[in-house]
Amino acid sequence: METLARQNKTAGENQKQTVLVVGGGLAGLTAAKYLSEAGLGVTLLEKREVLGGKVSAWKDAEGDWIETGLHAFFGAYEEIYTLMRELGTYQHIDWKKHVLTYTLEGGERFSFATVNLPSPFHLLPAAFKNRYFTLAERLTLVKALGPMLFGTAKYFTSQDKYSYEQWHTRWGISKRMLKKMFLPMALALKFLPPDEISAKIVLDVIGIFLRQNKASRMGLLKGSPTELLTGPIADFVRQKGGVVRTGAKVKEVLLDEADPHQIAGIVLEDGEKVTADNYLFALPMHNLKRLIPEKLYETEPFFANLKNIQSVPVISVQLWLDRQVSYEDNLLFSPDGFIPVYTDMGNSNPEYSHDGKSRFHCCVAPAKELIKKSDEEIIETVWGNLQSVFPDGSRDAKIEKAVVVRIPWSVYNPAPGTDKYRPSQETPVKNLWLAGGYTHQKFYDSMEGAVSSGKLAAQKLLKAARVS
Ligand SMILES: Cc1cc2nc3c(=O)[nH]c(=O)nc-3n(C[C@H](O)[C@H](O)[C@H](O)COP(=O)(O)OP(=O)(O)OC[C@H]3O[C@@H](n4cnc5c(N)ncnc54)[C@H](O)[C@@H]3O)c2cc1C
Repeated sequence: METLARQNKTAGENQKQTVLVVGGGLAGLTAAKYLSEAGLGVTLLEKREVLGGKVSAWKDAEGDWIETGLHAFFGAYEEIYTLMRELGTYQHIDWKKHVLTYTLEGGERFSFATVNLPSPFHLLPAAFKNRYFTLAERLTLVKALGPMLFGTAKYFTSQDKYSYEQWHTRWGISKRMLKKMFLPMALALKFLPPDEISAKIVLDVIGIFLRQNKASRMGLLKGSPTELLTGPIADFVRQKGGVVRTGAKVKEVLLDEADPHQIAGIVLEDGEKVTADNYLFALPMHNLKRLIPEKLYETEPFFANLKNIQSVPVISVQLWLDRQVSYEDNLLFSPDGFIPVYTDMGNSNPEYSHDGKSRFHCCVAPAKELIKKSDEEIIETVWGNLQSVFPDGSRDAKIEKAVVVRIPWSVYNPAPGTDKYRPSQETPVKNLWLAGGYTHQKFYDSMEGAVSSGKLAAQKLLKAARVS
């Protein structure tokens, strides 16, 4: 059976160009939004029954929302807020108090609170007031603040060959700060420890946090991403006449026999063939690599380079407890154990309240080894970590329910030396564009990176199609 995405060309719309967007995560949805808004005939194909990819959420049999991952919005993001404002959904972000709280074994805490001063002065009181690190330790950071604050893009790029740990050690910053402050930061950022993550990405992010007053402020959605973030984008696409299909897995990409630099169509798992004038792939790296036809790997370094980009495993664990053990309405960081960032949704997400009891959502990393273990072992590890950071409150607490979500190929792996392989949104194939956090844009693989990449891909496609 052959379907034309051109099917949404009606009699009066013969000039309408068509686009097939493959992948219904934030990148694909964003591209579909801007393309349908510009008047193109858009069909989006998503393999799962639920949209949203790594931000997807669904209700379980008991009516509880299960999220793929705990998602924080950062003040530094831009394009995702433009998109949300355009859709009227920005008010669904609940901005938390601007403080980074680290929770440690035995119930110990330290935090960095910012004040309303021009950057970088907004962080100075936090640095001086912090008593967890000794003055000598804090002073080791001072020298490194220069390149963090004033480093140019060229300098950050040149540091991609080093791991963050190598960079940290070369600048003589204290080892304890690496373990207690930068380890959870790297793990929360890309689920990788400092010896496996490129120095470039950590420096880029710290640089933004230091340079912009509100950049490190965090927010959470007031409910599920399905209802408050991705659903409204899909609704918009449909209102503009676009088609959003779930349960539609693309199995093969067909090249034009006469011109192998042109896509002729795609084939779905059930054998259905779909064609369009233009194709935009917004897939996770491992799925994209499987779909690229061998001929393109052989003839185009652009595609061969993708083989150098891997993905990082991560696990999400959600625990419903029989009592309240945390009273903090914010994201929390932890250097000890496997929960670098987590929150008690019972306090921080009004829609997810659990009758006043704690409902933890934990990002579990590094997951390379843990992901091979059983759900019971993973839950036991996470619960052990939570008990250790809330020793008093958790003493008699019991787990009422626990859910483990494994994401073996999550964000692309920003290992040292990888940045140069990240592709642009345009490709050497005339009618193919790429979107996704791994493509080149400022915010790496994040919600902002995915939205930016989807918008950039749409803009570039529209320019090539001479629609804008
Ligand atoms: C646990 C976790 C926590 C995170 N926390 C944060 C955070 O706090 N803040 C933040 O900004 N970012 C966070 N991120 C990163 C963020 O979720 C991603 O960067 C972003 O969602 C990626 O969007 P995407 O559209 O590029 O990819 P994806 O979301 O992966 O979307 C790709 C889509 O393609 C579909 N697909 C795959 N193969 C096919 C096929 N053959 N045919 C059709 N469809 C296919 C997939 O099912 C998927 O829906 C987190 C990620 C994870 C995993």
